Amino acid sequence: MPSGNVIRGTRVGSGPERPPERYAPAPRQAVTYWCRNDHGFDILIAAEAEAPPLWDCPRCGQPGGRDRGNPPGRARVEPYKTHLAYVKERRTPEEAEALLAEALAALRRRRGRA
Ligand SMILES: [Zn+2]
Repeated sequence: MPSGNVIRGTRVGSGPERPPERYAPAPRQAVTYWCRNDHGFDILIAAEAEAPPLWDCPRCGQPGGRDRGNPPGRARVEPYKTHLAYVKERRTPEEAEALLAEALAALRRRRGRA
């Protein structure tokens, strides 16, 4: 339990409204982005840094760009595919048969030993 000194850490004459010079935040710039859903949002970045061209919208997750009239398109243009669909893209049916036969053979060897 705390000792009851709830104002511990504060000092007379110090306060967040006038931070000492050495704690002053680095200069920053606000950069406005727009997503395709017309959500505008400001991102604060270091003044000397170059603003990235894209920033994900905090409201809908779509990428935002700096040109309101020409927001970037969806990041995921690929339609949803099942895991099996991806496997079928990578393997021909013949390769799949060979892999299956190999796996079954290995399984039978293991069982035969047990
Ligand atoms: Zn958005």
